[in-house]
Amino acid sequence: MTQNTVEKTPVTLLGLGAMGAALARTWLAAGHPLTVWNRTPARSAALAAEGAKVAGSAAEAVAANSLVVVCLLDDASVDEALAGADLTGRDLVNLVTGTPAQARARAEWARERGARYLDGGIMAVPPMIGAPEAGGYVFYSGSRELFERHRRTLGVPAGTTYVGEDAGFAALYDVALLSAMYGMSAGAAHAFALIRKEGIDPASLAPLLADWLVAMAPGIHLTADQLRSGDYAKGVVSNLAMQVAGVPTFLGTAEQQGVSPELLSPYFELMRRRLADGHGEEDLTGVIDLLIR
Ligand code: NDP
Repeated sequence: MTQNTVEKTPVTLLGLGAMGAALARTWLAAGHPLTVWNRTPARSAALAAEGAKVAGSAAEAVAANSLVVVCLLDDASVDEALAGADLTGRDLVNLVTGTPAQARARAEWARERGARYLDGGIMAVPPMIGAPEAGGYVFYSGSRELFERHRRTLGVPAGTTYVGEDAGFAALYDVALLSAMYGMSAGAAHAFALIRKEGIDPASLAPLLADWLVAMAPGIHLTADQLRSGDYAKGVVSNLAMQVAGVPTFLGTAEQQGVSPELLSPYFELMRRRLADGHGEEDLTGVIDLLIR
């Protein structure tokens, strides 16, 4: 198959919300024949004007092409939309955000209906779709053969990162990265709250905060190294005992600034527990052990 032929693989896309519409436009722009379906037909009209074929039902859209990409709101909407569709012989790529268990169940559901299955976790917001320089990408897991077959087509909207045959892994990686993002957002929220009453321009803190988080991020590699070796004191530069000694400074500053410590306190509590268990010479990595149920 020539590259040109691969680039023109016909695609069916179910769901034209903010993300679906962004995906659709990149395939159209790259010359892929595109069949779309959306529950609310008005959203399809704009895509029709840009060259997409509009199907009258999800079943009709599924029948149109062997590669079927789903970008609906949630797992329940997939059940609803695909209830009457014949998936036999289809290559189903599900980009709906969900849990690993939902992805595994959906893979089994697809297999029972005669479809091959790939699950995806989108690490991008709509403006990053079709903009490779923005660095967005999609995690894929499930059938490796299916991923390889459609790699080029799936790579049109955003980069592709395959993370394993277990269909649940794309969702797991997706949620892992987003969970870390929320931790970062929580820390930044606390930092902005600390300066709020002082008349300090948030715009003056922002570049310092962003640069600091970037400077600290490589520490994640040391954490991984410690987890792999089982030696949580390996390469430690700021040990747990020293960091726990600093906790009253953080809590005291929050109190003096009239800021609730509720975002930071749970983490400090875990640090204290780990210290109380006798691991003062270690890094913060032992907190991970306390989280495992
Ligand atoms: P939107 O809310 O913009 O669109 C939701 C889409 O799902 C619409 O096409 C909507 O149809 C459809 N839908 C909802 N319920 C049903 C249903 N019961 N039956 C059929 N269709 C239904 O969401 P996005 O496009 O932003 O998100 C789509 C997926 O992409 C989600 O899983 C989201 O988590 C994921 N994602 C989104 C990101 C983002 O920043 N937007 C980032 C990363 C992932 P209708 O037009 O009729 O309402």
